[in-house]
Amino acid sequence: MNQRFYLDYNATAPLRPEVREAMAAALALHGNPSSVHAEGRAARSAIEAAREKVAALVGARSEDVIFTSGGTEANALALAAQSGGAWHCYLSSVEHPSVLSGGRFYRETTTTFPVTPDGVADLQILAKELEKHHLGGWRPFVSLMAANNETGAIQPVAEASKIVHEAGGLLHTDAVQAAGRIKLDMTALGADMLSLSAHKIGGPKGVGAVVLSESASVEPLIKGGGQERRRRAGTENVAGIVGFGVAAELAADDLAKAAAVSALRDELEKGARAIAPDVVVLSGRVARLPNTACIAVPRTKAETLVIGLDLAGVAVSSGSACSSGKVEASHVLSAMGVADEIAQGAIRVSLGFATKRADIDNFLKAFNELVKRLRPRVAA
Ligand code: PLP
Repeated sequence: MNQRFYLDYNATAPLRPEVREAMAAALALHGNPSSVHAEGRAARSAIEAAREKVAALVGARSEDVIFTSGGTEANALALAAQSGGAWHCYLSSVEHPSVLSGGRFYRETTTTFPVTPDGVADLQILAKELEKHHLGGWRPFVSLMAANNETGAIQPVAEASKIVHEAGGLLHTDAVQAAGRIKLDMTALGADMLSLSAHKIGGPKGVGAVVLSESASVEPLIKGGGQERRRRAGTENVAGIVGFGVAAELAADDLAKAAAVSALRDELEKGARAIAPDVVVLSGRVARLPNTACIAVPRTKAETLVIGLDLAGVAVSSGSACSSGKVEASHVLSAMGVADEIAQGAIRVSLGFATKRADIDNFLKAFNELVKRLRPRVAA
């Protein structure tokens, strides 16, 4: 294959070499972590060391980390209806589909609340909604992501948790995209539950975690053995969890490099605007993850851009979803009220720990050629 330039870290990050090495060693730990013999204890101790590293990434206690099969299961576990009392679930309109599904909450007891045109949750509306249901004796369960996967917009989780707690409720935050990109602290966020996924931070696919605050609990989705303190049954994915631990440790160290990542992202956006002055940077006016650029080229099709860039060796994502043969704007951009002609030309470029200047230069070179070809008059 020709030289590739990978700029799709929000889809998945490459496996870090240190993670691969640690996982290869962990595959040799053949004991069942629940066994009492030495082989079992070796596997158990590898898991517990990883648990501490994952907990440290979000300022939690290791016993409050529940390993899952990924971010999707972590969200499902968090959204497994709480027992006792009547709960009403509130979800921001820009959540990942695994949250928007509502988990075990019934459709009639689930409400979505809007975001501003900049893609930030509208907490005034949430507060009003909570008041309404509070009067009816409902307890609110609110899920608000720490940062959006498409635009990178950072959400006001700490403010939301205050409102939710005042109303006697619980707050879950999907921190799958924010982890390792901005500093996260369970206590500062006031989160009762937080979801993580290993593969977005250089760990393996198929491993994630729900992290609980000291007072929170979950209803298990998978019942059976007593693993994960009876909160998630099934023999643990030892090598995957070990890889997650190493990735979490490296991600925490890499927070110090966030400014360098955002400088590269800013250069990319500046370069794109120089090529096509009508390029729109979505959520560009609000606090964003340092690695994410959601840029729209009006009057072009995102799919054409993604394919054209891929042919030139550059990997990015489109901000639109293709359903039943019809290309529709993503639910995130629709929720922000982005006009169709802009949303349809939105691509997501996401950077990470291995991104170099050359990746940005090659993106801009390919982008320039494509835009000139697709829109000769504007680019001239
Ligand atoms: N939540 C967010 C915000 C995501 O971006 C993703 C993955 O794209 C997920 C959850 C799902 O995580 P996983 O791929 O580990 O199931």
